[in-house]
Amino acid sequence: MNWIIREVRILTPSGEIEGDAWIREGRWAAVGQVPDSARGLTIEGKGRYLLPGLIDTHVHFRDLGLSHKGTFYTESRAAVAGGVTTAFDMPNTSPPTTTLRRWEEKMHYVSQRSWTNYALYFGATEHNLPEIRLLDPHRVPGVKVFLASSTGDLLVTDEAYVRQLMKESPVRLVFHSEKESLIRAAHAQWAEVEWETMPDLHTRLRPPEACIESTRWLLREATDSSVPVHILHITTGEEVQLLRHRPASVSAETCPIYLQWSSEDFSTYKHLLKCNPALKSSADREMLWQGLIEGTLEVVGTDHAPHLWTEKMRPYPEAPSGAPAHGYLLPWLWTMGRARGLSLSFWVEKMVYAPVRIWRIKERGAIQEGNWADGVLFAPEEETPVPAPLAPQHYSRVAWSPLSGFTLQGRVKAVWVNGQLSFYNGYFHGAPAGQPVVFG
Ligand SMILES: [Zn+2]
Repeated sequence: MNWIIREVRILTPSGEIEGDAWIREGRWAAVGQVPDSARGLTIEGKGRYLLPGLIDTHVHFRDLGLSHKGTFYTESRAAVAGGVTTAFDMPNTSPPTTTLRRWEEKMHYVSQRSWTNYALYFGATEHNLPEIRLLDPHRVPGVKVFLASSTGDLLVTDEAYVRQLMKESPVRLVFHSEKESLIRAAHAQWAEVEWETMPDLHTRLRPPEACIESTRWLLREATDSSVPVHILHITTGEEVQLLRHRPASVSAETCPIYLQWSSEDFSTYKHLLKCNPALKSSADREMLWQGLIEGTLEVVGTDHAPHLWTEKMRPYPEAPSGAPAHGYLLPWLWTMGRARGLSLSFWVEKMVYAPVRIWRIKERGAIQEGNWADGVLFAPEEETPVPAPLAPQHYSRVAWSPLSGFTLQGRVKAVWVNGQLSFYNGYFHGAPAGQPVVFG
């Protein structure tokens, strides 16, 4: 199916233009001016933006093995509803994606089920370097290294081994940067405290110093690394300061949850905001915004990590870490950014152009002739109400969001993935159209 989107404000790498866009055989065939000979179904775009589909380089879609929390089908579909057209999935599944065989099996499984384009990270253990050496840089976005334990049982604490990875990995290393020993020490220190009396206990058990010391160490080691290093979910102001002097081979991310909330919100939200690393102070949150705006933090990834509502309602120690981010992403970003005077282009830089540049994603991203037509039609003046927990209107399988009760600004009207209309006016269309991402 071919499409013509008429009279729309198109966000391109060289700025905003008002005009038409033509999708032919899955790709952008004309942008700005469409030839008279163009044929396709027409969608009116007046008053709306046409922007490139967001690229989320950090998701947990839970397949394989944790499908009660979500599957590639359900979570990639929720992602599309929020304006995401490409997702990179993490390996801490059950079993984890730590062998070439499991990685290939997962790629095969996902290929028929993903509404977004997809790429799968590989997980580092302290023993699988021989397999890491064989990873294909055109197909694998990176090796995930957990320097501290989180969901799942992947953990690498041997510093010499990390140095070896920094010499030998054929693909980018992406780090969960917290220092395990400091987390253990904090657990010993706060062991006697009842969580009911201390709403921000999670921030004390996973304290800022654990992040800061780990990132300080990583930046020092990365100076000699021949492999590019990406640091996930930055949460502290001090890490932003450290990152201002980062080596050129290092990039860094923060996530919407850390931009929206702080540890002061635990008393209201309880374990719904329990995630790793923990939320930090509101002063830290301000520094994250500053880091994003000045470009020290180049990428926003969601860390979409669904858990069942019943799991999150358990007492503190048993409530799992992580929260869903998908279903409402673009309105959420737009609403947060607008309050700070940021335009839609700001988020396109953080969630499209920066990922394309850092990961050297081929033929995707910018709305320009020849690229795959991954695009979002967005109505900035409409609203997106987020349903109550467990309401049937949620997109994510777990059917809750920490945003429940919010009325977000802006509304995703239509989403094309590889030129296929996948979402229109609140409904999903057709079949999953995602393709594997190719890296240059
Ligand atoms: Zn994560």
